[in-house]
Amino acid sequence: MKSKDIEALVRPNIRKLCPYSTARDEYNGTLGVFLDANESPYPTGWNRYPDPRQTALREKLAHIKGVKAEKIFSGNGSDEAIDLIFRIFCIPGIDNAVAIAPSYGMYKVSAEINDIEMREVNLNEDFSLPVDNLLAACDSNTKVLFLCSPNNPSGNAFSNETVFEVLKRFNGIVVVDEAYIDFCSVPSLIGSIDRYPNLVVLQTFSKARGLAALRLGLAFSNPCIIKFMMMVKYPYNINASTQKLALKALESPIDIYVAETVAQRARIAAALPGFAFVRKVYPSEANFILVKVDDADGLYEHLIADGIIVRNRSKVAGCTGCLRITIGLPEENDKLLKSLCDYEKGDIRR
Ligand code: PMP
Repeated sequence: MKSKDIEALVRPNIRKLCPYSTARDEYNGTLGVFLDANESPYPTGWNRYPDPRQTALREKLAHIKGVKAEKIFSGNGSDEAIDLIFRIFCIPGIDNAVAIAPSYGMYKVSAEINDIEMREVNLNEDFSLPVDNLLAACDSNTKVLFLCSPNNPSGNAFSNETVFEVLKRFNGIVVVDEAYIDFCSVPSLIGSIDRYPNLVVLQTFSKARGLAALRLGLAFSNPCIIKFMMMVKYPYNINASTQKLALKALESPIDIYVAETVAQRARIAAALPGFAFVRKVYPSEANFILVKVDDADGLYEHLIADGIIVRNRSKVAGCTGCLRITIGLPEENDKLLKSLCDYEKGDIRR
């Protein structure tokens, strides 16, 4: 797909949209007497509206990621970016989207909120990408295709070559959600946004960055798609404290936390098959492990009674009998393994 074809995919009403212009869009300097935005003049510390374009944050991310700021969108979590993609490209009640299954639940929820049909295509038995099935599910009204790599809840990552095949063969927007990319051995696709104008890569501050409470997600794509995301978003979508704290957080490396999580993941992945009730441990490139057990509900209740909360995915298609366990601190993982030992010995808590 060529850059010029992207605009044709955008909903006609969005193409014509004249976005809201804020007082801070017109003047965003720091010096002066600000009588333009009907703010309170009394200095609570938070009396001024934040930068609606998050310029400092996006410039800093541009420097770190090696991508121009005009190719970066920052949203109120990746969830905002997911919602905006539907609102920009999909006509309610007419267009549809395709997503892999099992995967992150918000693609479908966001589609339903926007009255967009979501066509879910099951991953192969080993959770690999069924490229032909994905493309067969698309028709002329399929505007967006969602992939997640590493995928939640399966934990595996798709090779970049497989994703390139989808990008080449699909005439619409391909969103690749890289929420867990920092834990992964496959490189990010951010470097491919210039080659594939229909690619949108999502990342988030909620996982490896450890800032889920701040609500900050990112989209990397060509300037045309980012321009529409900036036009459609709420004017002040990222609050001032998030912008400030995220900028500060970017000064600190996260490598040691990521390395420890990856090491702890290997430790748990090695320990789990030793339990008689474990049927399968799925290889993970993320900060969680999907594990199939004999009695998922029973084990889930036992862990809860022990004060350990995991995600019961046993009713999700493709994940029958599975629990998804997030990798915690080493001492939290000790508690998990101890509780699993007790369960195996028959010391079952309810
Ligand atoms: N994408 C995936 C694959 C996720 O698993 C999650 C949250 N669990 C998100 C996005 C949400 O990210 P954010 O906190 O940035 O909205």
